[in-house]
Amino acid sequence: MITKRIDFKKNSVQALANPKLKKALVNFTDRSRASRKKAVSEISEWEDLRLEARRIKEQVIKDLDSYLLELEESITRVGGKVHWAKDAEEASKIVATIAKENNVRNVVKSKSMATEEIELNKYLISRGINTVETDLGEYIVQLCNDHPFHIITPAIHKTKEDISKLFSEKFGVPEYEEPQKLANIARKELREKFLSADMGISGVNFAVAETGTIAIVENEGNARLATTYPDIHVAIMGIEKIVPKFEQLSIFLSLLARSATGQKSSTYVSLITGPRREGERDGPRQFHLVFLDNGRSQIAKSEETKESLYCIRCGACINICPIYRQVGGHSYGWVYSGPIGAVITPQLNDLNKTADLPFVSSLCGACRDVCPVKIDFPHVFLSLRQKIIEQAREKPNPREFMEKIAFWIWGTVFSKPFYYNFMGKIMFFLQCFYRKDNELQRLPYPFSKWTRDKNFPAFSKNPFRERWKKKYQVKGKAPR
Ligand code: SF4
Repeated sequence: MITKRIDFKKNSVQALANPKLKKALVNFTDRSRASRKKAVSEISEWEDLRLEARRIKEQVIKDLDSYLLELEESITRVGGKVHWAKDAEEASKIVATIAKENNVRNVVKSKSMATEEIELNKYLISRGINTVETDLGEYIVQLCNDHPFHIITPAIHKTKEDISKLFSEKFGVPEYEEPQKLANIARKELREKFLSADMGISGVNFAVAETGTIAIVENEGNARLATTYPDIHVAIMGIEKIVPKFEQLSIFLSLLARSATGQKSSTYVSLITGPRREGERDGPRQFHLVFLDNGRSQIAKSEETKESLYCIRCGACINICPIYRQVGGHSYGWVYSGPIGAVITPQLNDLNKTADLPFVSSLCGACRDVCPVKIDFPHVFLSLRQKIIEQAREKPNPREFMEKIAFWIWGTVFSKPFYYNFMGKIMFFLQCFYRKDNELQRLPYPFSKWTRDKNFPAFSKNPFRERWKKKYQVKGKAPR
């Protein structure tokens, strides 16, 4: 949970000052967008799939309670155990208790945004349970004591050189240049962790209510190892991740792989239905599924913003967003970034502490256009903005008071031709002090905030209204 206010502006100014980061972001988002576009163009029924996925998600969120009960029943039927967690603290406690009851010392984890959201690693490690991320990107992020930069590719902000240096420091190996050698080092380290793990923790991409099957999608094979090798598998899922029928899973798998990485299908799709059964040679002996609410049931009640829960975490909206492309993931201050972060973070946390985020959008709608479940982002953004403004009205602050004065002055000047002309003349006179090459390169406060980053066009000696008047007077028409 967020404990202090997210200052998006401050964070993004820091990010913009880092040219290395900017280059990495542009390269990554360009590549992701191109591969998604190609993958999407290969199937003619793309729009139908999107419509159907949205319809299913609408149905799930509308009847969320009954689908959760159905899923619980199915999981229990196949020998698994369901735990209900109302918030991050409760979810973490459940996992720690399962670990304690089974004398678990070593845990391997596959990539999961839900566990990032509840800061599970921190919780378990503080209780003496060794917890290691096994997705390569997440592993790098964990070694740096950092946070994921993107929901699909957590370490895009790290260069090959950064990783080489990191591995050298942590494992005492030479600073290799070749990515293959770096991957081999991580593989060797992680293999030992897998072999000594007593428990595997994963997220859930989709959970099928009718069969109790959970689907986990990945490209490295680490999630499959983490969920099959250790004796205990604990999966944490946001309660919105349900798909009612098994046959509907293929729609979401197709949408997710193409939208996320431009693949026809992810390299590994693991479908897990309960623990190891009698006579089976592998798989965990215990299977636990934690239903994580953490504010989701509240979102489901809001007619205006409940569609934020339709998200399947593909990252396409992030890659297309012109703002994310400039400032990257850490500017959003929490685990979710880009447009989906800007709408979900305020709803899962205190709106006052996250009030900057719904304004981090130009409302261009590019996120809505790529979203595989057609989330109407501009609508959700506007609805959250309205809420923030209504809350602010209840507690007036000095900034709002100043804004009111500024808009009152602006309204008065622009609605009265006399004031407008008078102000124009004053500005024309004042600009003599700041003018250079037909531009104003520096202005006094508060306009200096504008000229800090860009020049302001100089006021014309012969303004438009004068030219307009002259033109129509000459032709004998009265200007309006
Ligand atoms: S909001 Fe849509 S585009 Fe963005 S991550 Fe979720 S599913 Fe993907």
